[in-house]
Amino acid sequence: MEREAIEFDIIFVGGGPASLSSAIHLTNLIQKHNEDIAGGTQQGETIDIEDKIAVVEKGAYFGAHNISGALLMPGVLSELLPDHKELGCPIDAEVTRESIYYLTRQGQIKVPFIPSFLNNHGNYVISLSKFVSWLAQIAEKKQVMMLEATAAVEILYEDTKVIGIRTDDKRLQETGEYETPGYLLNAKVVVLGEGSNGTLRRSIVEKLNLNQDKTPSIYELGVKEIYELKSNPLKKGECIHTLGYPFRRGLSGGGFIYCMSETKVAIGLIAHLSSEDPQFDPHKELQRYKQHPLINSIIKDGTPSHYGARTLPCGGYFSIPKLTSDGIMLIGDSANLVDSQKLKGLHTAIKSGMLAAEVLFEALKANDFSADRLAQYEEKLKHSWIYSDLRKGRNFTPAVAKGVPFPGGLLLGLQMLTGGALPLGNLETKPDYSTTEDMKTFYGTKVPEPLPKIDDRIIISKLTDVYFSGTEHDEKQQSHIYLKDEAVCRKCISDYQSPCTEFCPANVYELESDRIRVNFSNCLHCKTCDLKCPFENIVWNLPEGGGGPRYTLQ
Ligand SMILES: Cc1cc2nc3c(=O)[nH]c(=O)nc-3n(C[C@H](O)[C@H](O)[C@H](O)COP(=O)(O)OP(=O)(O)OC[C@H]3O[C@@H](n4cnc5c(N)ncnc54)[C@H](O)[C@@H]3O)c2cc1C
Ligand code: SF4
Ligand code: SF4
Repeated sequence: MEREAIEFDIIFVGGGPASLSSAIHLTNLIQKHNEDIAGGTQQGETIDIEDKIAVVEKGAYFGAHNISGALLMPGVLSELLPDHKELGCPIDAEVTRESIYYLTRQGQIKVPFIPSFLNNHGNYVISLSKFVSWLAQIAEKKQVMMLEATAAVEILYEDTKVIGIRTDDKRLQETGEYETPGYLLNAKVVVLGEGSNGTLRRSIVEKLNLNQDKTPSIYELGVKEIYELKSNPLKKGECIHTLGYPFRRGLSGGGFIYCMSETKVAIGLIAHLSSEDPQFDPHKELQRYKQHPLINSIIKDGTPSHYGARTLPCGGYFSIPKLTSDGIMLIGDSANLVDSQKLKGLHTAIKSGMLAAEVLFEALKANDFSADRLAQYEEKLKHSWIYSDLRKGRNFTPAVAKGVPFPGGLLLGLQMLTGGALPLGNLETKPDYSTTEDMKTFYGTKVPEPLPKIDDRIIISKLTDVYFSGTEHDEKQQSHIYLKDEAVCRKCISDYQSPCTEFCPANVYELESDRIRVNFSNCLHCKTCDLKCPFENIVWNLPEGGGGPRYTLQ
């Protein structure tokens, strides 16, 4: 297929907070540099921005695929944009009241103190999709080329040097040709800010062996619903975190309720993909969670309006891959920088993007994009608060993943009391796909607990929730998901009862007699399935840009 090639200096893949912060910081540095030269306070050449820096986002619009809790630590935003409030940053509320509860099946115990790492006082309650859309408008005003509804589907190499990306072909015709072929976007540096378990990130980490000597990346799945309330017992900006119910053997994680406004609350669960349960289903657990008296008392008169799901990397310190190579840099969740102890990754995404921008600025000034030059980003990260914070919580998730209360709870206590010094070294973790047990091993003679009757108000079906996420894909394309070997599925259906039909938060996988049907147009791009299929039998490719969820408030 004939493809047009376009030349850029820097291409950011993924329009999330990491890439957008990086693009904004880079253009700020360039503008200041150009002004200094024009004003005669500095010698040198000016640097062009227009048509030189681009951000490529697969969502139909910037913000369409971005979902988070989302509590944002404001310090780093002030570093990026000191005047963010004057610029109209969409802050829903500031946290004024917070609590942590341990839930039993029917009761709750309020934890009498908030550990310092969970203290959210003064943090912003935001909608990530609105925040990203706002950042994108700022980047656009700074002459960054904003390519929405465009998926980067392949990294282009010259030997092992990254020289650009290829974008998606659009609209498959009956002839087998595409109406609009994708472009070759050549660049001096490609910055990967794809978020959690990015497809290009995965391919480059494997190709260049960037994970050598690192522990495997492990993940959590977050599912979240937003309710409109007639009467709201919470105060705007109030946050509740919960432990305990519905978490149990084979299910670890926590729950949250954030009050976004007088009439809106976000309710969510974050569950580790390291679960042994072959029927692991965070969406179902979220429905159970809402039946708990504490949660039910908040939403009992409410109406659900929005839904979304997304994985987040939680391996932390020991799982950070090599973050630069010739022509490439990894930032944000693509770099595994989520601080799971704090339950946050927005601040590290923004800061890592800014540090990458500082190195890119020097590279542009010196016209030197060598691997050694880009490696300065890793040095900057190692000397930043990102690394020291992640080091303090280095065994947090690995301890939880070992199972709470035993032995994980003990290890967790040690980790928290000693600021990470104990347990010594690196608690081993296994890739998430490998932890699932078969039905007989996990359940023995018991059967999984069924969900109470769906009413689509408190107990919501997956399909209704998919509707709330606004998800759609143009049907004129090949499925972006395929199963490698149907014989493997048949064995899995009989021994594991097809985990994909449970863990997928969007009902993409359906059991039809002895085979799996893939309803790709429901896909939320949460990126769970290629991590959690016990046989690594699922391939998730990038669909045409513009498909997927259309988040507005998540
Ligand atoms: C349920 C949940 C709750 C959370 N709560 C909090 C919280 O309260 N506070 C906090 O600080 N953090 C929280 N986090 C974590 C936080 O949201 C992430 O760490 C942060 O969003 C990472 O930013 P990012 O820019 O790296 O990735 P993302 O925000 O995931 O953005 C990546 C973007 O890249 C796009 N993309 C991916 N691949 C391609 C491609 N090949 N081509 C084109 N586009 C592509 C995606 O569509 C997406 O828009 C939460 C996460 C979840 C899932
Ligand atoms: S896709 Fe994976 S999880 Fe689903 S039935 Fe096949 S092997 Fe099992
Ligand atoms: S198909 Fe995979 S990526 Fe899509 S919603 Fe289901 S688990 Fe998530």
